[in-house]
Amino acid sequence: MKKNIILAISAIIVFAVLAISCKKDEATAKPVITLTEVGHDNSRHAMRGDDMHLEADIVAEGLIKRIDVEIHKEDGGYEIEKSYTEGKYIGVKNTEFHEHIDIPAEAPLGEYHLHFTVTDKKGQTTLAEAHIEVVEFDEHEHHDE
Ligand SMILES: [Zn+2]
Ligand SMILES: [Zn+2]
Repeated sequence: MKKNIILAISAIIVFAVLAISCKKDEATAKPVITLTEVGHDNSRHAMRGDDMHLEADIVAEGLIKRIDVEIHKEDGGYEIEKSYTEGKYIGVKNTEFHEHIDIPAEAPLGEYHLHFTVTDKKGQTTLAEAHIEVVEFDEHEHHDE
């Protein structure tokens, strides 16, 4: 009887040790991105010759190393790129990204594809995508926020 109790206790200890060591080995989660607003009020529109409001919630357990934004024409041939490798978003675990991306006046009108890539300090990357339309500049539609 006593032996059984000792066996049971040993088994519990072994399981507990295993559970703790497994937890330690658990991989760091990849960055999680939620694109909250692409274009003003999430309109998914951008005007050429203006800038495009872009907001995202980022959770990176492995801490943010860099953020890359790429907007390319759906049929290729034109690309806008912007990278963030220093400043308030870098080295943090949880942030609300809010930036305005310049859309050059010479950008062709039409459908574009947005790639929002977050790389953590462990080298893991997550990509969030969205479709946007680049439209003609209209000063009544311009927003500063
Ligand atoms: Zn904004
Ligand atoms: Zn693409």
